[in-house]
Amino acid sequence: MIKLLALLPLVLALAAGAPSTPSAPRIVVLGTAQDGGLPQTGCDCAHCSAARRNPALVRHVASLAIYLPKTDHVYLIDATPDLPAQIEKIHTFRHHPEGKTDRAPVDGVLLTHAHIGHYLGLAHFGFESLNTKGIPTWVSPRMAEFLRTNGPWSQLVRLGNITLREIQPGQPFELEDGLTVKAFPVPHRDEYTDTLAFVVRGPHKTLLYVPDTDSWKAWPRPLTEVLAAEKVDLALLDATFYSPDELPDRDVSKIKHPLVTDTMDLLEPLVKAGKLRVGFTHLNHSNPALDRDGAARKAIEARGFRVVEEGDELDL
Ligand SMILES: [Zn+2]
Ligand SMILES: [Zn+2]
Ligand SMILES: [Zn+2]
Repeated sequence: MIKLLALLPLVLALAAGAPSTPSAPRIVVLGTAQDGGLPQTGCDCAHCSAARRNPALVRHVASLAIYLPKTDHVYLIDATPDLPAQIEKIHTFRHHPEGKTDRAPVDGVLLTHAHIGHYLGLAHFGFESLNTKGIPTWVSPRMAEFLRTNGPWSQLVRLGNITLREIQPGQPFELEDGLTVKAFPVPHRDEYTDTLAFVVRGPHKTLLYVPDTDSWKAWPRPLTEVLAAEKVDLALLDATFYSPDELPDRDVSKIKHPLVTDTMDLLEPLVKAGKLRVGFTHLNHSNPALDRDGAARKAIEARGFRVVEEGDELDL
């Protein structure tokens, strides 16, 4: 049964105040966890064991759907190990064939990089499962080379389950109907591929999505400059770790991700001035901001920021 997006249970406070235009493209959040998900395999920490006991606390791995109601098309940002559940979620708002397999569950995929949380889900498009036909897959040239030359991904390319489309960083391209995407590289542990961030520009709003990055200090161009140059309204940002206290047995200088507290220090003036809305995503299982009633979550909300939740929607 097709359900209207408007019936999705959670409407993002980030979008509050934006006119809700039923025909406008929108982002639907499909997951908010770091690559290992929540609960993480084999982990019995307080967050993981609580999520194992209570399914409402489970978080799928960070991913977004871009939905265009006019054409009923969906583009996925990142294909996570939780892709089967995330396709189920897409089926709650997008038409799909009833009584048979949906071999085109998305109209395209954009990938940030080759860490497990961001591309392993492509495997479900292969011969052993959905056996899709030519799903456009936008990637950096280095990621394209990695997928073409390493199994099992090379089989997806060879059998035509996916069609690689190389993104030129900094060059915007149109997904459809005036909705454009611009990718640019961000510093990150680039063992297999480089890592992209995406600017998604709709008719009303512009989103910056950076699920995984090294500290903002490592960016060649300051984040605040990028936000201004791209006229970003909404930023969904890497919140892998909240603060140094979170990992008492680790050397903080070795944590390359920007800490949530540092991100808030950097962006609070823009948020307070009403120039930018920020949502946090890609939370590690250790992150105290996972606790919906905890002090970290309260501190985030008190400063005008938000932790995004699965099912949240953002008008573009
Ligand atoms: Zn990641
Ligand atoms: Zn855990
Ligand atoms: Zn990564």
